[in-house]
Amino acid sequence: MLRTGKEHLESLRDGRVIYIGSERVDDVTGHAAFRNAAATVAALYDMKADPANRDTLTYEEEGGRSPDHVASFVTGMVIKPDALPAPCAHADNLIRYYRHIRDNDVYVVYAVLPPQAARNPEFYQRQNLPVPTLRVVREEDDGVVISGMKMLATGAVYANEIWIGNVLPLAPDQKKESITCTIPCNAPGLTLWSRKPAVLGVTSEFDSPLAWRYDESDSMVLCDNVKVPWEKVFVHDDALLARDIYIKTPSHCFGNHQSNVRYWSKMRLLLGLCSKVAQATGADQVPAVRETLGKMAAVESTIGGLVHGQINACEHWPEGYVCFNRRFMYAGLEWCTQNYSKFIDELRELCGGGVFQMPADISVMDDPDLARQFATFWQTPQADALTRMKLFKLAWDMVGSEFAGRHLQYEKFYAGASFIIRNHSYRETDWGEFNKLVEDLMASYDYPVERQTTDAGLSVLRRQSSAR
Ligand SMILES: Cc1cc2nc3c(=O)[nH]c(=O)nc-3n(C[C@H](O)[C@H](O)[C@H](O)COP(=O)(O)OP(=O)(O)OC[C@H]3O[C@@H](n4cnc5c(N)ncnc54)[C@H](O)[C@@H]3O)c2cc1C
Repeated sequence: MLRTGKEHLESLRDGRVIYIGSERVDDVTGHAAFRNAAATVAALYDMKADPANRDTLTYEEEGGRSPDHVASFVTGMVIKPDALPAPCAHADNLIRYYRHIRDNDVYVVYAVLPPQAARNPEFYQRQNLPVPTLRVVREEDDGVVISGMKMLATGAVYANEIWIGNVLPLAPDQKKESITCTIPCNAPGLTLWSRKPAVLGVTSEFDSPLAWRYDESDSMVLCDNVKVPWEKVFVHDDALLARDIYIKTPSHCFGNHQSNVRYWSKMRLLLGLCSKVAQATGADQVPAVRETLGKMAAVESTIGGLVHGQINACEHWPEGYVCFNRRFMYAGLEWCTQNYSKFIDELRELCGGGVFQMPADISVMDDPDLARQFATFWQTPQADALTRMKLFKLAWDMVGSEFAGRHLQYEKFYAGASFIIRNHSYRETDWGEFNKLVEDLMASYDYPVERQTTDAGLSVLRRQSSAR
């Protein structure tokens, strides 16, 4: 059953514990730090629920559809349940969970990394301190009890449930940390520690249109003796399996294909901004600037091509299903992490100092005399003063504001640091295939025949090569 936005907002008024610094937030749908973005999430629910969008935004298999990223991870897992062997994995629980989030249109986010700099348990054990990394502290008849921290749940304040897991490899003895489960955002003992919300300190939507309602939030997840019933446990006591469930099923590929699509949408907006800013400054008439725009258009269409390639070259895996092409997906992911800041930098160059030519905020229009001067002197042949201000405020929220800075960090790290993504790419590559290309080519020619009889070292070389 598809939820409406109103129903989703009601589901967030559930007593969850969120802190911004020392301030406890009682209701995310009413608090200034979160209410606008909560309304954006609600609008997405409404868009899905609208019958006019059913065919494009939903696929009704027995009804329901939850927000895409983590739902895609779960979907990828359930199509290969044999990768979740008993007794440490619970495929039946996972299949039930898949149906639960699909049928009830549940918004799930995830926290699948140990906290940074707390990956060395000996440091804490030596000082008799609790190890900060989340782990099972107790098993009971009806479930497990977990305590500790996970980073970094994007969207958790607007979600219903948090998937706890490990997308990075654990050491074999980290059995208690291998817990993979879900918890509701209002679970007793769970607190969400929000980073600074971008909207705080912002004067109006006109001045900061993206921070105003698109800050999806990021929170540290802190559990203090949180009870998890067995039916919400998917892996426990198996360090290897805790990661394999993402990699040995289409899970990681499904979830990150969605990331590539999301990124492409963002690039389309960025390319539009490059063009509009160049128009606003009049630079779009300059051949060198047109060349830059052409380059940016090629960059944007590269990710489009990578997304389509993942679909067109899909893999028939597991049997009876198709999965996006894994190598192309990791190529896309790698490309995304490397190109976002470069693209932003091009937009920054196109903006020039225009972003700082604008008044501090829109209150300038409250004073008739200032408003008249602004309208007179800030207009250009390309646009009136207010339109220019609107555009440059939007551009600044993409290249320079607190909101923009968070996005630079996000696009570099959301799927793991670069070396992690490259390791995925390495793993999925059939090196034998590539080595063979070189070997076959080398086998097509040999040591010059005329030398074979004269070179005394040849027989030694042959002996060495057959010994290998
Ligand atoms: C805005 C934002 C949102 C996020 N949202 C989520 C989320 O929703 N859910 C979630 O689970 N996680 C989320 N993350 C966390 C993200 O997955 C991690 O930031 C990422 O995996 C990198 O881990 P780290 O931050 O601990 O950095 P580290 O692993 O500590 O790396 C820091 C730096 O050191 C380098 N480095 C470290 N070790 C090595 C090595 N062995 N070899 C080479 N270089 C190395 C890295 O390349 C990097 O430059 C989010 C992160 C950000 C920034």
